[in-house]
Amino acid sequence: MAAAEESLLGAERARNVERRGQRRRRLWIAATAASYGLDGAFLVLFALAGAAPLWVAGAYLGGAALMSGVTYGVMAADWNLRLRDPSLVLPQSVCGILLQAAVALAAPQMAFPWLANLVTVLAFSTIWLSLRRSLALWALCAGLAGALFYGAAGRLGVPLEGPWQTLLSWLFFSVILGRFVFLSAYSAWMRSRLLESRSRLAATMAQVRELASHDELTKVFNRRSIVARLEEERASAMRSGQPFCVALLDLDHFKAVNDTHGHRAGDEALQAFVQTVRATMRETDILGRYGGEEFLMILTDTTLEGGPGATERVCRAVEAAGYGRIAPGLALTVSIGLVAWKPGEDTVSLLGRADAALYRAKANGRNRVEVG
Ligand code: GH3
Ligand code: MG
Ligand code: MG
Repeated sequence: MAAAEESLLGAERARNVERRGQRRRRLWIAATAASYGLDGAFLVLFALAGAAPLWVAGAYLGGAALMSGVTYGVMAADWNLRLRDPSLVLPQSVCGILLQAAVALAAPQMAFPWLANLVTVLAFSTIWLSLRRSLALWALCAGLAGALFYGAAGRLGVPLEGPWQTLLSWLFFSVILGRFVFLSAYSAWMRSRLLESRSRLAATMAQVRELASHDELTKVFNRRSIVARLEEERASAMRSGQPFCVALLDLDHFKAVNDTHGHRAGDEALQAFVQTVRATMRETDILGRYGGEEFLMILTDTTLEGGPGATERVCRAVEAAGYGRIAPGLALTVSIGLVAWKPGEDTVSLLGRADAALYRAKANGRNRVEVG
């Protein structure tokens, strides 16, 4: 039931994301249509200033309206969601490029501002398209510009006849630059948002990994991780022949700690115990919670010469540490079973021997280390 509810919730969330995406795409279509409208208005004004025939403006506006209308219709019907490029950036860009080139071809005397307007289309496309597709669009622009330069060499120009044409050319060029700045700023904003969400995701993943591999109460490795580390240590010792020891640590009469001081004090005592052990053990040793009040320590690069001294130190430190701030009169001791890995030995046998040594430490009076 819970799983079914979760998957329903997941589907609902996915639908919301999809709806938001479609709304954002329709907004972009509206903005693009307005931008084409502005170009069309300039074409009308250029026509009125005698720089080009009026039909060019009409054809441009008609073409832009057709493209925007079709794109909007496809999105309104959700057909775009089945495509790899649901924002239809590539077809919109190709249409945009062809429209600018068509104006330059139809009115070569004002070709340059319209060729400059290709920058607007490319700045729009490169926000979303892959490098390969952006390069393909660039090649299309370069090809069309080349065809115009070679085909209509003497006739290409900038409309600068009279004060109106000059003013309009200046304004139109400024609009092109303004749109470029807006689109670049938008692209930078999108990138920074993407980076932000990526770093949030990385932090969450690190948290998830930490939760999966560490014990929540004591923050040392959990049983699965410490056993995995033990397997790794054994595998590397098999290759290198480097010795290592394993110690099983079990708090003495811990049930009595809970019974006398309460479970919460017991939890805090476990945390304090781990702090003491960590402060006493070497940097290279690895500690994990094996279960309840039982811990497993891997003493890397250690033989039975060094192991007993290191674990004895832990024993004495746990005994000497003060736990009065957790509960008045609280004292802790630990029993430790220590064994050295024998070449070729598997972890089951190794842990079995450590457990037997621990059992002896308990039987022999606790608060001591027994070597197996
Ligand atoms: P021994 O010296 O023979 O090891 O005696 P013991 O009382 O430590 O051993 P026993 O196995 O009888 O009891 C272990 C106790 O550890 C019982 C259990 O409630 C307590 N314990 C295990 N995990 C936790 C924990 O996460 N928090 C608290 N507060 N207590 C725990
Ligand atoms: Mg115990
Ligand atoms: Mg125990």
